[in-house]
Amino acid sequence: MIVVLKSNATEEQIKYIVEKTKKLGLKANISRGVERTVIGLIGPEDVLRVTPLEIFPGVEKVIPVLAPYRLVSREFKKENSVIKIGRDVRFGSKKIFVMAGPCSVESAKGMRSIARKVKKAGATVLRGGAFKPRTSPYDFQGLGEEGLKYLSEAGKEFGLATITEVMDTRDLDLICKYADILQIGARNMQNSSLLKEIGKTKKPVMLKRGISATVKEWLMSAEYILSNGNFDVLLCERGIRTFETATRNTFDVNAVALVKQLSHLPVIADPSHGTGVRKLVGNVAKASVAAGCDGLMIEVHDSPEEAFSDGQQSLVPKQFDSLMKDLKKIALAVSREI
Ligand code: PEP
Ligand code: MN
Repeated sequence: MIVVLKSNATEEQIKYIVEKTKKLGLKANISRGVERTVIGLIGPEDVLRVTPLEIFPGVEKVIPVLAPYRLVSREFKKENSVIKIGRDVRFGSKKIFVMAGPCSVESAKGMRSIARKVKKAGATVLRGGAFKPRTSPYDFQGLGEEGLKYLSEAGKEFGLATITEVMDTRDLDLICKYADILQIGARNMQNSSLLKEIGKTKKPVMLKRGISATVKEWLMSAEYILSNGNFDVLLCERGIRTFETATRNTFDVNAVALVKQLSHLPVIADPSHGTGVRKLVGNVAKASVAAGCDGLMIEVHDSPEEAFSDGQQSLVPKQFDSLMKDLKKIALAVSREI
């Protein structure tokens, strides 16, 4: 249920509605738009039959939300949510922001080298996993806190925000100390304990689509985060598993365009995991920009053949630099900027 307030509704009237609905067992989420404020109500809506909100002072109208993902839906919020990271990054604005870096943080020197090159090419966020969700328990699992330090130091040195994956609620406090954006990986998209805990933090979060998740399931997972109080959520399409084995995953470009319509949250495209093939990353990145994404995540490594993980899909800095130049042209063609 969405309560649309009159443009001249006062803070007192808002407070009154929130308190009243709380007493009825509903949870109120206030969203302050440019033109007006709306209040999203979650909980047993039948109680509103006896307490019609339409007649409350300051209320313009009450609209039922049909989508099961209420706070995430465009019905709840018409205008794009803009998620601010630091001074310069604004996901959901006209500008498309690019996150780049190695799959795993491997060394301090490697992180500094990549940070310098991706920054020069125009990236604004540095990526690197310190806790890695590997298929085999015998593969490299990440450097843990040491990796977080290298990532954060390189980010600070070159003026880049940082993003890294959180796999376990027990690591959450530690990761929050080092990173600017928390990444929830595809394998954890439906880990509801993790979603709830991250929902209670104030850190921006990027939720990757699960390997076999439908768009609806993905948006329901985002709803867990928003309904726990954290509205700074980026949705990342990273490819899904299909019958096709020619590529690592099947990048769902439909989902990029569709989710922009279904939700007000920014959509990020990850053509690296989406294809799993270096030679395809550039074209799929371009397709994503054309489809309306608000950001990109691209794996970049100085010597992919020696990478601890995902070398086969990592671009070398030179390829990344030339891709960034091409992406600027595509962005311009669809009235965006990079
Ligand atoms: C990653 O970003 O390196 C990663 C593990 O991604 P995903 O969860 O999409 O597989
Ligand atoms: Mn990876």
